[in-house]
Amino acid sequence: MAPAAARPLPDILAAMASKTDADTALVKKAYEFSKEAHKDQRRFSGEPYFFHPAEVGFFLAEAGMDAEAIAAGLLHDTIEDAGVKPQSISDEFGASVLRLVEGVTKLGTLRYRGLERHTESLRKLFAATAKDIRVLIIKLMDRLHNARTLEHVPRPEKRIRIALETLEIYAPIADRLGMSVTKQELEDAAFPHAYPEDYKKMLSLLKERGGEREKRMEKVERDLKRELGQAGVRNFRTEARIKGTYSLFRKLQRKNWDIDKIYDVLALRVIFPAVADCYTALGIIHAQWRPVPGKIKDYIAFPKPNGYQSIHTTVYTGDGSALEIQLRTEAQHREAQYGIASHLTYKEAQSGSGGGRGGLDWVRQFFPAWRKSAKDPGAAPVRGTVPDWVKELAHADQVEASEEYLDTLKTDFFSHRVFVFTPKGDVIDLPIHATPIDFAYAVHSDLGNKMSGARVNGKMVSLDTELRNGDVVQVVTKPSAKPSRKWIDNAKTNMAKKHIRAALSALQKNEPKR
Ligand code: MN
Repeated sequence: MAPAAARPLPDILAAMASKTDADTALVKKAYEFSKEAHKDQRRFSGEPYFFHPAEVGFFLAEAGMDAEAIAAGLLHDTIEDAGVKPQSISDEFGASVLRLVEGVTKLGTLRYRGLERHTESLRKLFAATAKDIRVLIIKLMDRLHNARTLEHVPRPEKRIRIALETLEIYAPIADRLGMSVTKQELEDAAFPHAYPEDYKKMLSLLKERGGEREKRMEKVERDLKRELGQAGVRNFRTEARIKGTYSLFRKLQRKNWDIDKIYDVLALRVIFPAVADCYTALGIIHAQWRPVPGKIKDYIAFPKPNGYQSIHTTVYTGDGSALEIQLRTEAQHREAQYGIASHLTYKEAQSGSGGGRGGLDWVRQFFPAWRKSAKDPGAAPVRGTVPDWVKELAHADQVEASEEYLDTLKTDFFSHRVFVFTPKGDVIDLPIHATPIDFAYAVHSDLGNKMSGARVNGKMVSLDTELRNGDVVQVVTKPSAKPSRKWIDNAKTNMAKKHIRAALSALQKNEPKR
């Protein structure tokens, strides 16, 4: 049902992380400015247009973003859709709010059509993001509200395109930024429009056994509270985690639609004050219920590259079924919700290049995979808040065809990932099915070009070996080594393929003519 009024200003102010007078004044002014600018416009739904930016501003406040980002969210469509002059945005709200608004603004409608235009917008989005990561987060919230109102988009092809793009590009970006709430919200909004038949099928499957599943979880929850209490652990809270509809669908596809094989449709989350409590609880849980072998994942000791930390275990519940339990601290829980967004303050959001460099240790702690720039191994560690992958997308070869650019986005950056380690313990994340060749080129192109072999977990392996999560990969180099044509087939990432092709053609040029 459509809401009767735009999201009121007090909701936004209440959700803001910082409530200084200057911050609330800026947001208040942007709210009124946007309302006035859009006053004669309507959305497809027939609602006043201002409903949209007001909601985007609210999402940003909820995610813990700063006042400038919230103001830019409220103003994000004023230039493109309401004819406001860029100059008046900068006069009223300052240069950095204008930069954010312009970063989010799509390209003009004249020069590009269809895929071309869309790819160009994405490229521009990443270019703006490379300067200020807040642009990407505003764009995600803009997309979230658009995805939630998809039923009003009249043309079905357009509706499906927006839904697919949300699933394939925007939700994975949210995931890479550790914004799990936003990721799930994007997926849940888009999934029914992208795959309506599958969505219906899944809902009916869920309904069939839903009651049983809930009862089973409640019983484990009761027993667990008792066990923990008897062991003297009393300071904790529990909550049910319901799997998002789209990630459940993806899992159902992998399990031939057998929902009984999926143990985390519902999961039990237990949240403690300290990390030590999580390990104590894990011991108590495993003493009471037998864990399912191979399903214990310690993301506290080994955080995911997007910063996610929790212990997951799946236990047999004694009735032929099993249940996933997730253990984490309050701080880890907060971070798991909004990831990078909850860490951004005005100063930290400045780009690493030019001014604004600061001691951003939190970046490393939050993004352990952030490493020296892949292009320049001698450079100082990345100190901005912009991940390398965003920069790579921003600087992607301008002549790269649109199809190829979208392919790169989907396969290199957002498909299922494996996380492997360098011998020094740095995390490198790669697409699933990646080989040591991809690993070498992800670390540095010179490493790839001089590779003569690879060790995985201490053993020499062939270069077409598929890497698995947690593998420690060591590249063996020889000064005389050079890439072979066969590597192109063995590589999974477009980045590796591109470097191999470049190295091969350079070799050919230097070959003496006969
Ligand atoms: Mn918008």
